[in-house]
Amino acid sequence: MTLTVVNPATEETIAELEPAGIDEVDEAVARARDAFAAWRAVGVSDRARLLRRLASLVEEHADELARIESENVGKPIAGARAEVAMVGNVFHFYAGAVDKHHGETIPVDGGVDLTFREPLGVCGLIVPWNFPLNIASWKLGPALACGNTVVLKPAELTPLSALRLAELVLEAGIPEGVVNVVAGPGRVVGQRLVEHPDVAKIAFTGSTEVGASVMRGAAETVKRVTLELGGKSANVVFADADLERAAAAAPYAVFDNAGQDCCARSRILVERSAWDRFVELLVDSTSRVRVGDPADEATEMGPLISAQHRETVASYANGNVVFRGNAPDGPGFWFPCTLVEATNADRVAREEVFGPVAALIPFGDEAEAIRLANDTPYGLSGSIWTRDGARALRVARGIDSGVLSVNSNSSVRVATPFGGFKQSGFGRELGMHALESYSEVKNVFVSTEA
Ligand code: NDP
Repeated sequence: MTLTVVNPATEETIAELEPAGIDEVDEAVARARDAFAAWRAVGVSDRARLLRRLASLVEEHADELARIESENVGKPIAGARAEVAMVGNVFHFYAGAVDKHHGETIPVDGGVDLTFREPLGVCGLIVPWNFPLNIASWKLGPALACGNTVVLKPAELTPLSALRLAELVLEAGIPEGVVNVVAGPGRVVGQRLVEHPDVAKIAFTGSTEVGASVMRGAAETVKRVTLELGGKSANVVFADADLERAAAAAPYAVFDNAGQDCCARSRILVERSAWDRFVELLVDSTSRVRVGDPADEATEMGPLISAQHRETVASYANGNVVFRGNAPDGPGFWFPCTLVEATNADRVAREEVFGPVAALIPFGDEAEAIRLANDTPYGLSGSIWTRDGARALRVARGIDSGVLSVNSNSSVRVATPFGGFKQSGFGRELGMHALESYSEVKNVFVSTEA
């Protein structure tokens, strides 16, 4: 059986690989297990130096990596380049973090009490197709900084950038066996990683449904698990906001990466008194989103990942459609930007669409805005647009989400914690917080009695 990798913008085959199966996972885990003792013993300066070298190699190969990512995911090249720049920054950050995540001494009777941060062992990193290299780096950086070895499983649809990264890892001088990549189907390769007795932790990003099955599977061997799952985030626009600015930004809060983004603010909640004006501005700004060839520097939105996914997305783009944009005819899995007026009870407002379809929902006052924003099983991100600073903080504290922004749509920064509430998962990636879930606290008491 061959794993055929397709460019979603052209439907052309760009690679054919021999997919990994259970044997390859077992071999990769064995290699990672064998490499663990030596890797955890590498001194902090050397470990940091190796991560810095990896960061530099990513920067040196930025154009190549961005092109791979753009062709394999259908991402606009300018966005792909920004993502690869973040990957370099992530490795630089964790190079700097190697000697800054440490234990403490605790005052106790009769001796000295020390805590140590120990690595966990072999970590299984399961990564989705929407941000393949970025999300891989968010897991690899802290895992390696803490002294773990890893088996990285990219999504079957988008394995190419992870395979190239594995070559750069070796070129950086990180020893063989520390980073292993297995490209194969999730239900075989991913599941084996989850069940493997020698894997200490699974860091998973993907759907809530598979995340729940990862949790169940990991329970058998009491693995550590972190889950970064789906979202149905709200973009809350108050009437006192800079409506022009909010409307100019809103399309990119949901249509970036063709809406295939767990942080997509796919529910746009608008205060009723500003509804007409805001919708008019939003339709105008959405009509300007440049959809087309991902290789074109000016393109802002590419195709969806697959024909099957396009069918799913299309099932949400109905009802009271306020705006439907243009998209190329094909080949390619294109889908137009679509705005649908809805209530929070409608399917388009309840389920993660993972495509360029946004639900527009009116609200009456601040209390209703918070209630609607929280009326979802998810809790990943969200935005609040208002000129009233106190209100911004009240609403931010009131929304049960892991990552909120005020008068901005950005969710992800290298140095700040990223992760969800509720069914959006648990555990934090990025920043110093990520190091917590790739290490175990060990306590050592030393008696000082004579
Ligand atoms: P999945 O959750 O199926 O895939 C995510 C990762 O998990 C992939 O590497 C996949 O491998 C792997 N996987 C699949 N099944 C298993 C399993 N049984 N055990 C272990 N690993 C497994 O997401 P989909 O790609 O199917 O996307 C479906 C929906 O999930 C999207 O439409 C979106 O709503 C949501 N999603 C959310 C993401 C996020 O960023 N939070 C990312 C991706 C999807 P493989 O692809 O090779 O099968």
